[in-house]
Amino acid sequence: MSSHTCDALVVSCIDFRFQKYIRQWLDQNFGDKTFDYVGYAGGAKDLDTVMKQLDISVRLHDIKHVVLMNHENCGAYAEASTPERHALDLLKAKKTIQEKYPHLKVDLYYLLLDGKFGEIV
Ligand SMILES: [Zn+2]
Repeated sequence: MSSHTCDALVVSCIDFRFQKYIRQWLDQNFGDKTFDYVGYAGGAKDLDTVMKQLDISVRLHDIKHVVLMNHENCGAYAEASTPERHALDLLKAKKTIQEKYPHLKVDLYYLLLDGKFGEIV
């Protein structure tokens, strides 16, 4: 067990257009909770990369919660950036994460360009 822990891992895309919305959302929804935060182009698109980071956050920080955020008009998806494709990738990521770490709570979000957060369930 590590000497310092945090509540969650938050994964989003690197896209600068969404960072202020993500910061506001985290302020509102995480309060004083702590989290590791990483950005990858495409968010959860490259699941292998996400899983590598997740392994580290689990091992070092004993996280209990994962938040994955993809977004509308994502350059990493280009023409494939449809709500359906994002939902598919996010749900696949959740399934993979919970198969490996059944104790983790996984929440999925799809961000719109106007800053709205849609939850994928
Ligand atoms: Zn993106």
